[in-house]
Amino acid sequence: MAVTIALVGNPNSGKTTLFNALTGSRQFVGNWPGVTVEKKEGLLKGYADVTIVDLPGVYSLSPYTPEEVIARRFILEERPDAILNIIDGSNPERNLYLTTQILELGIPVVCAVNMLDVLEKRGDKLELSRLSTALGCPCIAISALRSVNVRSAADLAVQCASPAPPDKRSGVLNPPVSFNAITERAIAELQALLPYPQERGNRRFNAIKLFERDEIALARLSAASTLELERIVALAESELHDDSESIIANGRYEFVERTVAKCLARHRPGTSATERIDRIVLNRVAALPIFAAVIFAVYYVSVSTVGAMVTSWTGTVLFGSIVPEVIGGLLDSAMAADWQRGLILDGIVAGAGTVLGFVPQLLILFFMLAFLESCGYMARIAFILDRLFRSFGLSGKSFIPFVIGTGCGVPGIMASRTIESESDRRMTIITTTFMPCGAKLPVIALFAGALFQGSGLVALNAYAIGIAAILISGLILRRFKLFRGEISPFVMELPEYRLPTLANLLRSTWERGLSFIKKAGTLILLSSIAVWFLSSFGIVGGGLRMLHADEISRSFLATIGGMLSWVFIPLGFGTWQSTVAVITGLLAKENIVATLGVLYGAGGMQTAFSPAVGLAFLYFNLLCPPCCAAIGAIRREMNSARWTTFALAYQLCFAYAAALLIRIAVTLIFA
Ligand code: GDP
Ligand code: MG
Repeated sequence: MAVTIALVGNPNSGKTTLFNALTGSRQFVGNWPGVTVEKKEGLLKGYADVTIVDLPGVYSLSPYTPEEVIARRFILEERPDAILNIIDGSNPERNLYLTTQILELGIPVVCAVNMLDVLEKRGDKLELSRLSTALGCPCIAISALRSVNVRSAADLAVQCASPAPPDKRSGVLNPPVSFNAITERAIAELQALLPYPQERGNRRFNAIKLFERDEIALARLSAASTLELERIVALAESELHDDSESIIANGRYEFVERTVAKCLARHRPGTSATERIDRIVLNRVAALPIFAAVIFAVYYVSVSTVGAMVTSWTGTVLFGSIVPEVIGGLLDSAMAADWQRGLILDGIVAGAGTVLGFVPQLLILFFMLAFLESCGYMARIAFILDRLFRSFGLSGKSFIPFVIGTGCGVPGIMASRTIESESDRRMTIITTTFMPCGAKLPVIALFAGALFQGSGLVALNAYAIGIAAILISGLILRRFKLFRGEISPFVMELPEYRLPTLANLLRSTWERGLSFIKKAGTLILLSSIAVWFLSSFGIVGGGLRMLHADEISRSFLATIGGMLSWVFIPLGFGTWQSTVAVITGLLAKENIVATLGVLYGAGGMQTAFSPAVGLAFLYFNLLCPPCCAAIGAIRREMNSARWTTFALAYQLCFAYAAALLIRIAVTLIFA
């Protein structure tokens, strides 16, 4: 007799591992008809007539996702002879919710409880005999990973596969969940409406689905029956003061809770190290101060002290004098032409220096972030901030990109990958570079020094304005239709604390560093060469020639700056010099310092910028589209030209509006 057994379970419960253990190499992989969800079938090892079907992982049998629709349609239409329900035993609360629905189908069910090693490591214990009694079906402990008991579980399912036709099966099984009296009465009335009396085994399942106004179940009802259904369900809803779907879900959750309480012996709380640490770290009062202290420490080491030292060494010593001198010497001995010298020294070496100059600092930051991530604290940060961020339409997970973004926007934008929800991820990508990155610090320092007696308040303000820009953008962007909808709920599970191994930290640091160099490198190098060309060549006396250092006003770049400068007139800096600085800033933000230095000289800043205009210029550059390396990262992560354009346009408009407001506000205050 040919038997079909369906493997049903939550995603990540170990279904595929179990399927492979049961079928070995005797499997056929394809797609479910019409969708690209994987379909796997195989013969049970040692049998010629027992087929195992690996259904897509689902949390319930509602018709909300393609996976759920496929799993449900297969079970209801193909009617497997038995269901092997694989349960992640380390998370029985979530997994049993699906089990309660499977048990209503009228198909024999065997529960294979997997991942018990994880549960036992926590010190918990699951009483399977009690679980069996509560569910009314055989439950067996397995380890899909180590192939323990998988054979017995499958054999049990084969034994349970009833040869009786479906209509005889209904009496065999008692669904475990009974709802309150009002709901049960409604379900009984709905069973009478079912148009398909031959499907006796499914009657309770289908009646419950009708009660939930499930669209697939409703589609098969006649118009008259639909009216009758509406009357029955509406009555129950008004008596119970709840909508029908919640009534059913609550009934199931209550059952699951009671069952878990009966079967799960939990380790006494507060004794594991993770719980003890979390009591302090996630404490209502202490959580935020601890978090602030940790972030400050990371920042202090990677940006202010050690980081600043290595960056200034690579910037001023290594790429400021050693490398240019060595290469300059080589060029001299090769008698290179002026333009060759310029291309190599000012284009390529300066560009490479920009990329590599930040690498040591980034490596320190990456190392510390890798530590926070792998010890388990990073997940807590997201957890702590989730509520706060959510009230601004952002997700707690956005925080990680924002922190990384204070070092460099490129890895910050790359870090947004951990956010599952697409709209949350896009919002994060658009707003990450509002945080002042390491390259913006010299610009901030230049303006603080030239216009505000080096006041540290300017830097502090830059962070405050960056954070404000992110939060305000959260509120603004949520108003767009594209970003509307549920902010994805916080589903990251808090991992146990672990002491990371040095090898793992170094590997993660190295991988991120390398990917920064590769991704940012090419773009920076190319645009560095382009800006070098535009700024050192010009049409002089009717011919193209290379300019001397003091002739930048005749360069192509100055011409372009002059053509665009009117845009900035409302902001107060509508000069070609400022415009050129903005353009070179798009190459790398710290270029603004060098450009203004060349164009205005040491003392010229005060005459060129009033405090109000200086602040407007500074904040425009902090908030406007980032350097081309970060733009490249945005393009890569958005994976869409349209979304990249939207992001850049939004940043440009936001920066412009902010700079205008700042100019007006400062002018009014100090007038
Ligand atoms: P599926 O999504 O249900 O197909 O789950 P997979 O078969 O892909 O398994 C998810 C993860 O759980 C994999 O990394 C498996 O190696 C792991 N896994 C499977 N069974 C066990 C088990 O008994 N114990 C532990 N600790 N891990 C397991
Ligand atoms: Mg799978």
